[in-house]
Amino acid sequence: MRAILSRAPVGIAVIDHDGTYVSVNPTYSEIYGYSVDDMLGENFLMVFPEEARVSVLARHQDFLDNGGHLGGEWAVLRRDGAQLTVWSNSVSFPSDHGKPDRLVYVLDITEQKKAQEQERIAATVYQTTSEAIMVIDADFRVIAVNPAFIRLTGWSQDEVMGRSARMFRSDRHDEAFYAEMRRAVLADGVWNGEVWDQRKSGEHYLRETTVTVVKDAYGKVKNYVVVFSDITTRKSAEDIIRWQANYDSVTGLPNRHMFTERLAEGARQATETGQTMALLMIDLDRFKEINDTLGHSTGDRLLAKVSARLKECERPGDTIARIGGDEFALILNGVSDIEEIEASAREVLKRFEAPVAIDYEQLFVTASVGISLYPRDAQSLEELFRNADQALYAAKGYGRNCLHFFTPALQRAANVRMRLANDLRQALAERQFIVHYQPVVDLETGRIVKAEALVRWQHPTRGLVSPGTFIPLAEETGLIVPLGDWVARQAIAETARCRAAYDPDFQMAINQSPTQFRNAAFSGLGWVGELARHGLTGGAICLEITEGLLLNAEPQVMSNLIACRDAGIEIAIDDFGTGYSSLAYLRRFDIDTLKVDRSFVAELDGAGLDICEAIIVMAHRLGLQVVAEGVETERQRDILKSIGCDYAQGFLYAPALPAAAFEAMMAEQAGPGEPDADRRSASAE
Ligand code: C2E
Ligand code: MG
Ligand code: MG
Repeated sequence: MRAILSRAPVGIAVIDHDGTYVSVNPTYSEIYGYSVDDMLGENFLMVFPEEARVSVLARHQDFLDNGGHLGGEWAVLRRDGAQLTVWSNSVSFPSDHGKPDRLVYVLDITEQKKAQEQERIAATVYQTTSEAIMVIDADFRVIAVNPAFIRLTGWSQDEVMGRSARMFRSDRHDEAFYAEMRRAVLADGVWNGEVWDQRKSGEHYLRETTVTVVKDAYGKVKNYVVVFSDITTRKSAEDIIRWQANYDSVTGLPNRHMFTERLAEGARQATETGQTMALLMIDLDRFKEINDTLGHSTGDRLLAKVSARLKECERPGDTIARIGGDEFALILNGVSDIEEIEASAREVLKRFEAPVAIDYEQLFVTASVGISLYPRDAQSLEELFRNADQALYAAKGYGRNCLHFFTPALQRAANVRMRLANDLRQALAERQFIVHYQPVVDLETGRIVKAEALVRWQHPTRGLVSPGTFIPLAEETGLIVPLGDWVARQAIAETARCRAAYDPDFQMAINQSPTQFRNAAFSGLGWVGELARHGLTGGAICLEITEGLLLNAEPQVMSNLIACRDAGIEIAIDDFGTGYSSLAYLRRFDIDTLKVDRSFVAELDGAGLDICEAIIVMAHRLGLQVVAEGVETERQRDILKSIGCDYAQGFLYAPALPAAAFEAMMAEQAGPGEPDADRRSASAE
C-alpha cells in the first residue's frame, strides 16, 4: 500500500480530527511545494489563505462529526505564495484515537483553470468586440462569424455559413490584389491592409483587415482568421471627400472630374512623345429602357457589372471612367497604330456579348463606341471630346452595337476591314484561298530541302489580298482555326507528294497563329491522323509559332506543344529577334528551329551582322537549327553561310510559288526524268 501511495499521481493525505497531517504522499507535498517531512505533524490549514482558515476548519470537523460531503475546487497557496486551484474529495474513516480521520485526495487543476478562464475571456471578446471576426477554412468557406461581423456586413449567420468568402468582395480590387494577399498570408502567416468590401446592401466600405493563417501540426493550412473593422468612417473626412470627388460611387470607376484630369495628362504625354492618345466614348444602347422597366437599383447594379467588364479592357496606363448616366470613356495612351485602337474598341464591344446576370434575370445590353484621336483629330481637349461624341452619335446612327471613328478616312478604313471580315467568312466556303510554297535552301549544299506554306486570298473583286491584311482579321473573327486547318491539309498533301516524288526527307513548314495554338481544339485536326493518312510521320512538318506565345504560355499552349513533341512534329520560332527573344524559353519548350527575322538579314552589312551571328552561335549551342528569312542577294547568302547559318529562304531563290511551279523547281533539282506528268497535274488542281 505504501508503494502505491508513494507513486500515485494524485495527492493523498490523512488528516486527523484536529487538522493535523497524519500522513501525506510525495505527490501531495509536491503540489504545495513542500517535502513530506515538512508537512507531517503540521496543521492542514497551512495551505489555506489566512482568511479562509476558520471556515475551512469548521467544515473539516463538521464533515468528520456529522458526515456529508467535503470536496470541490479550492483556492490554496503553495509554499512560495503562488495561488493554486486544486480539486479534492474526502472520505472519513475510524482512527485508533477515537475520533475519525479524514482521507483526502487532491488534484492540481491550476493550468486547466487558467485555460478555461482564457477561453471564457476569448469567447467574451469574440462575442462583444467591435471588430468583425470571420474564420474560414482552407477552401475559403466561412465556418464562423461573430456578432460584430453580422452588424458590419449586414449578412446573417445563416446566410454566410459554408459560403465562399469571395462573396464579400467588391470589384474595386482586381484578381491580382487577392492573389498577392493570399501569397503574403501563406508566406508570412499574416497580411494586414485596407480592403474595399461590399455589404449585403451592395454598399462599398473600406475595412482595415488582418488575415492570419492557422496551420495544423503538419504545417497544413487549417483556417484563416480574418479580423477587420470598418474604417470608412475613420478615414479622415478629407480622404472621403477626395474619393468622392474623383470616383463614382455606383461603379467605383474614376468620375468625370478625374477623367478630365487623366485626359489632360494623356494629351501632355502625347505631345511630349509624339504618340497618339485615343478617346473612346462608350454609350450603352437602350439603357434608359432597362432603367425605366426594371428600376433604378437594377440599373445601378447593371452599371456596376458592366464597369467591371469594361475595366478588363484597360491596359496599364489607360483609364476607363464613368462620365455620365450610361456613358463611359476609355482613354488609350501611347498607341502607335489605328488597328490597335480598333482592336481595343472591338474588345469593348465584345464585353457586351454575354448577358449580364442580375438576380435571376439575364440582361442583354450592347454599346456603341465613338473614337477620336489626339492630336490627329483635335487641337484641344474640348474639341477631342466633341469629336468623340459626334463619332458616338454616328455609331448609334449605324444601328448601335458598333464603333465609329471621327476621321472620315479612318472610318473608311474601318469599313473596309469590316467588309473584308465579312467577305472572309465566305471565302473559305467559296474556295478563294490558295496555298503557295516558298523553297527553303540548305546553305551547305544549295539544295531545296524544305518549304514554307503561305496562304493567299484571291478576292473576287480586290484581287490577291496579302496575308498581312487578312490573317489578323481571321484571328479576330476566329476564322483562323478552320482556315488554318484547311491550309494544313493542303500543305500535308503537298508534303506527301514532294516526299514521294523528289526527296524522302523533305519537310514542310506551316504557320500557326497564336489563336490556333491557344485553341483547345488545336488537335481537332488530328495532326497525327492527317499525316498518317498520307503515310507521313510527325517529322515531315514543322509548325512555325511566334515568341509571344511562349512568353505567357497558358496550360493549353503547353499541352499543345507537348502533343506536337510526342508526335515528332517540329517547332520553329518565326520572326525571331523581333519579339522578346528569350533564351530561357527556347530551352524550356524544346524548340527545334529559329527563323531569323528578315529585318536582320536586310541589315547584314550593318548592325544586323552581329545580331545574326550571335543568334546563330546561341541557337547552335542550344541544339537549334537556324533559317534566315528574306534572303534577297547573293552577298547576304554568302555572309550567312560564312557565319554558320543552316538554311536560307527568300526572293534570291524564289518567292512563294503555286504548287505546280514549286514542284517544277523540285523536279529540276532532282534531275532529268523526274517527275512524271500525272503527278504534276495532281499538284496543280
Ligand atoms: P512569315 O511566316 O514570316 O512568312 C514570310 C513572309 O516573308 C512571307 O510573306 C513571304 O512571302 C515573305 N518573304 C519571303 N521571302 C522574302 C524576301 O526575300 N524578301 C521579302 N521582303 N519578303 C519575303 P507573306 O506570304 O505575305 O506572309 C506574311 C505572314 O502571314 C507570314 O509571315 C505569316 O506570319 C502569315 N501567314 C502566311 N500564311 C499563313 C498561314 O497559313 N497561317 C498563318 N497563321 N499565318 C500565315
Ligand atoms: Mg512563317
Ligand atoms: Mg517569318
